Amino acid sequence: MPKINKLLVANRGEIALRIMRTAKEMGIATVAVYSEADRLSPHVQFADEAICLGPPPSNQSYLLGEEIIRFCKELQVDAIHPGYGFLSENADFARKVTDAGIIFVGPSPESIEVMGSKLAAKQAVSKYDIPLVPGTEEAISDIAAAKKKAAEIGYPILIKASAGGGGKGMRIVESESEFEEQMQRAVSEAQSAFGDGAVFIEKFITSPRHIEIQVLGDQQGNIVYLFERECSIQRRHQKVIEEAPSAVVTPEMRKAMGESAVGVAKACRYYGAGTVEFIVDDQLNFYFLEMNTRLQVEHPVTEMITGKDLVREQILIAEGKPLSFSQEDLKIHGHSVEVRVYAEDPKNNFLPDIGRLKTYRRPQGPGIRVDDGFEEGMDIPIYYDPMIAKLITHGENRQDAIDRMIRAIHEYRITGIETTLDFCRFALQHEAFVSGQFDTKFVERYFTPDKLDPVFTTQEKELLAALAVAFFEQEDQRINPKKPLSPTPNTNWKNRLL
Ligand code: ADP
Repeated sequence: MPKINKLLVANRGEIALRIMRTAKEMGIATVAVYSEADRLSPHVQFADEAICLGPPPSNQSYLLGEEIIRFCKELQVDAIHPGYGFLSENADFARKVTDAGIIFVGPSPESIEVMGSKLAAKQAVSKYDIPLVPGTEEAISDIAAAKKKAAEIGYPILIKASAGGGGKGMRIVESESEFEEQMQRAVSEAQSAFGDGAVFIEKFITSPRHIEIQVLGDQQGNIVYLFERECSIQRRHQKVIEEAPSAVVTPEMRKAMGESAVGVAKACRYYGAGTVEFIVDDQLNFYFLEMNTRLQVEHPVTEMITGKDLVREQILIAEGKPLSFSQEDLKIHGHSVEVRVYAEDPKNNFLPDIGRLKTYRRPQGPGIRVDDGFEEGMDIPIYYDPMIAKLITHGENRQDAIDRMIRAIHEYRITGIETTLDFCRFALQHEAFVSGQFDTKFVERYFTPDKLDPVFTTQEKELLAALAVAFFEQEDQRINPKKPLSPTPNTNWKNRLL
């Protein structure tokens, strides 16, 4: 069985650091890669060796697969961990890595390929009794037939590009009269954006939740599920708060979703860590959406409730070791919440707010984990995803984890740029979140920028009221020095302010 002695992490920032930490614990030497913009990054400092790939833009640095493979040979690296994003779901890269005799810490190139296409994925799972959103399971070639199918399903429907991703390549069609026009647009958009004009239709779920299942499979064919993550709090179709377990998933539903996810993994002979995404309607029916063939950003909440280190499991699987636990061994311990700290301004449509981290102090204390890749004084580069950190809490139950998160957000000190922290605090305290009754429309439904205007605590209001009383008494004295000071303070101001 191959042993990994040296691992190159083909990524940057928090995820590169997070992977190297586990590697170090396993006695594996680490190699970092970086662009000129990341020269001083913590992941570069942490690694045993580091290589500069080139200028900041990703296509001149982190996406240079062949360069990375060449460096691996030079430095006698045994394995490459791609992290998420960049080269992580590039089947061609995974194949080149393997062909070069290097271990790819991830699934086979074939699994990546099948799951990289929404239609190929639907076809692959069709033998496994996996619930799919009602719609067409093949690329649409006959518009009249598709229109008939859409009428059967019922409007609104969604047109999706098979090669789409990251929330791109989808169109809602509200009624039959717009069907043909929208279809033509969708095909030409898919062709120009993804180089593949294949589209299909799905029923549009009007009040959807996004719930996903973490799976782990070894090269011997054993596959287990590590329960669900609730990822419905999104802005611009991108997740911003995640939790495990979900507030609405019952043990029966968990088992059914878990078994479906294992079916999806089996359908593409999956090994490694993967995530099966489901869309859940307001009746709690769940439907398979897609499988992400990599480690997810939000994997820590699963680690917190299962006690498993997913990166460690990925590495052991890549070495060819069988899973050391079975489904029955896995249990949920407590509850975990993650908020993503983005350099974005929630008051300005969540647009990136790049700049320097003038102050940067992490929260501390029991049940708190911060996965980040920056230090105070560093600049957030404009070239990459503007995520600064992930703040994760763990508690005995959901409310404990939320309370701890609110405390941690309060303690987090970031100045110099705007972040999503205040928005996350607003969301966590909102009754829809607290009650668990929310869907992916949370931001549209409940959030307006004024919700982040400062709100004073009772103590702060009392202090302000006392200051106001003192101020107006002083004013009275100035205007009318003969007026005696009232023995009882004028509480009108205080009453008005409170
Ligand atoms: P991508 O590959 O772009 O992430 P997905 O198929 O995973 O595409 O869908 C992304 C998001 O779009 C989902 O999380 C969900 O919010 C929404 N979505 C996808 N399919 C549907 C559907 N049939 N009805 C309603 N919303 C959907």
